[in-house]
Order: sequence, then C-alpha cells, then structure tokens
Amino acid sequence: MSANASHPGSDLPTLGQALAILLGARRLVALTGAGCSAGSGIPTYRGEGGLWTEYDPEKYASIAYFEKDPAYYFRFFRDVRYPVLAAARPNEAHRALARLQRAGRLHALVTQNIDGLHQEAGSTDVLELHGNTRRFRCLGCGALVDFAAVHRLLAEALPPPCPHCQGALRPDVVLFGERLPEDVLQRSLQAAREADVMLVVGSSLVVQPAASLPVINLERGGRLVIVNLGDTPLDRVATVKVDADAVAVLPHLVEALAPS
Ligand code: NAD
Repeated sequence: MSANASHPGSDLPTLGQALAILLGARRLVALTGAGCSAGSGIPTYRGEGGLWTEYDPEKYASIAYFEKDPAYYFRFFRDVRYPVLAAARPNEAHRALARLQRAGRLHALVTQNIDGLHQEAGSTDVLELHGNTRRFRCLGCGALVDFAAVHRLLAEALPPPCPHCQGALRPDVVLFGERLPEDVLQRSLQAAREADVMLVVGSSLVVQPAASLPVINLERGGRLVIVNLGDTPLDRVATVKVDADAVAVLPHLVEALAPS
C-alpha cells in the first residue's frame, strides 16, 4: 500500500498509518538524507532549491578532480559550505530522532548527511555513510582537523597545510569515485537486515548504496515508512509514504512514541 499526503504536516491519514507502524516496531532503524537538514538551512542536492550552483559538484565532489586541483574544493568550502554549515543548527527533525534514541526506541541511525547535525542534536553512534564535512584529515600524519581551524588556515594559504606536519589536508568525506567506509557500511547493512521497520527521512533514495538499505529491509519482510517532500523511486513499495516536511512531521510522530 502507498498513500500520499498533499499538505505537508497536515495529512492525518498517512500520519496515522505511519504512527501505527512505528508504534508496533520492535527494531526501528532510521535512514536520513539531505531533506532532514533542509529545515536547518542546508540546501539539498535534489528537490526544490536543491543545487549549490556557484560551484560544480562534478568538481568539488569528485576525488579525481580533488587530486588534480585541491584548491577548487577548498575555495568551495571557504565560500559556500563553511558559511552555511557554521550557521546551521539542528532542527526539530534532528531533535526528534535524538529523543527517540534516548527513549530506547531507535535501534540504529544511518545518515547520508555529512553535516554533523544529528550529533549536535544529541544522537550518538550515528552511522555516517558519507563521512563528515566538519572534519579534515591529514594525508601525511593522519590528524583530524576541525573545519573551523581549516577555515582560519585558509586566510593564509590555499590549499592550507596540516597545522601539525604541514602535510596535505583533505575533507573527511566520501567523494564521488571513493568507497564508503567499510565498517560503517557493514553496520548499516546489518541494521537494515535486522530492522522490522525502516523510517526514511528526507532522502530522494537515488544515491547508492544508501538507497539499497530500505530495499534490503523490505526483502527481509520489514516495513518501510518514508517521510519525504517529493517522490522517491521506493514510494510504490513503501508501506506508507508521508509526503511532508520532516520538521513538521517528525516531532508529531516521536511525541507519540516517546512522550516528553
Ligand atoms: P537528495 O538531495 O538527493 O534528496 C533530498 C530529498 O529531500 C529530496 O527528495 C527533497 O525533495 C527532500 N526534501 C527537501 N526538503 C525536505 C524537508 N524539509 N522534509 C522532507 N524532505 C525534504 O539527498 P540525499 O538523498 O541525502 O542524497 C544526496 C547526497 O548529497 C547525500 O549522499 C549526501 O551525502 C549529500 N548531501 C548532504 C547534505 C547534508 O549533509 N546536509 C546536503 C546536501 C547533499
């Protein structure tokens, strides 16, 4: 069965169906995407207003291009990503998921996001499939360097050297052309296999292998609840689709699961 809401946050039939499924969950796993952070002012890649148009993602998000011209990434980071990220705060959707975890009702939280907002909202043990853009890693000594420190270094040098060994820094994220961190991927696959309900929040479900997690769960007999503004390729196989703003819907769902 699949049902769609047309008015974000006000579709009681689909919300009621979603709630019934979530209330019955024994092992609930959440998968979040860029739409979960849209309410924090971080643009998504897809969906309305979804493009970071000033810089070319084929360049700043590609390992091949990073190796050729690292300064391009660092300029993108300095001019576009850092100001957005430094100003972003967790929203009600992040906070609701953190509350669900504290209440012991969330078995695992898997995210495609690289913004660290789940952790800032209080979630722990977040499975970050694509890394975290608040950290840089030194290719020389392996040190992890906070993004604010890297932003300060950018006033002096482009690209900036590692503050510990002067080695080359790179973002601690998975760029196109790179493999996902194996341990995180394996734990996420395991969580998808074990879940009896998977809750997708704000993902277009087109980026692999993240998008295969709900499919694995469905194949194992799990049920799928999607909260996303706009279509996804899995809407037709979802147990219930709530087409709504995550910020409007998540607090409502979580209040029933983990009353404050
Ligand atoms: P996506 O951009 O492909 O899809 C986001 C989906 O969220 C779209 O369908 C959009 O319509 C929907 N959406 C937008 N606002 C929403 C809201 N308020 N509530 C609910 N849904 C909303 O994102 P993706 O599926 O995560 O894949 C894109 C890739 O880009 C990810 O792998 C991620 O690493 C990266 N990315 C990360 C961030 C971040 O960390 N915040 C931001 C942009 C892109």
